[in-house]
Amino acid sequence: MSEEDRSLSTTPRLFVQGALAAGAQISLDQPQSHYLGSVMRRQPGDMVRLFNGHDGEWAARVGAVAKKAVTLIAERQSGRQELVPDLWLCAAPLKKGRIDWLVEKACELGVARLQLVTTQRTVVDKPNMERLGAHLIEAAEQSGRTGVPELPEPLSLERLLKSWPADRALIFADETGGDAMADTMARVPAPAAILIGPEGGFTAPERDAIRAHPGAVPVSLGPRILRADTAALAAVAVWQALHGH
Ligand code: SAH
Repeated sequence: MSEEDRSLSTTPRLFVQGALAAGAQISLDQPQSHYLGSVMRRQPGDMVRLFNGHDGEWAARVGAVAKKAVTLIAERQSGRQELVPDLWLCAAPLKKGRIDWLVEKACELGVARLQLVTTQRTVVDKPNMERLGAHLIEAAEQSGRTGVPELPEPLSLERLLKSWPADRALIFADETGGDAMADTMARVPAPAAILIGPEGGFTAPERDAIRAHPGAVPVSLGPRILRADTAALAAVAVWQALHGH
């Protein structure tokens, strides 16, 4: 790693909208300007790392630092655009706090899409998507990702199954018993998805409907009943260990 890259590795990373290319001028929004100017006390001439989800990471130099608008000029690409494995996490929206934690972990663990699924026993049926989207961006900035997981609108389990893509395996974490975890995960490469139920679990009719789906691969995550957020993290981590990077 060059001296320049070494010093860059300690500079702030920010997700920005707009194209990133040599000479591109980026104006930060008010919260980001406050963070960079007042919190991180960056001055004109300082370096920052920017990414926008599709152009990789770019080293940018701070131009003007005004209270409400910091502008930067992109200079060189400092990181390639990530190629995360095509893994979706489909999970019931959990209580506030747990869902925030799960969203952050899913991003750190390289999930490509986070699809919330409402089921009969879902306790939270109107999750705050703006708050969850902000967590995904923060986790991408912290974890060095150059992409941010997609966060589509929540779907009901029925709609999810009806519209399921034919080419994608649906690994179904079934706490009432599925196939053994390690070798089941090993035989299900991308494009794949992991489906996790709500705190109260799936109902029997829901479980039957999922198992009846042609793309469903039931898997056990072990002999203990895991909390939904634990189950999601464990399943994603095992799948990524086998198929991801
Ligand atoms: N019905 C359970 C709680 C469900 S746990 C109870 O008896 O309390 C929430 C979700 O986590 C489940 O729907 C399932 O998708 C997943 N999960 C938890 N433990 C699991 C296990 N041992 N194997 C597979 N999936 C599990």
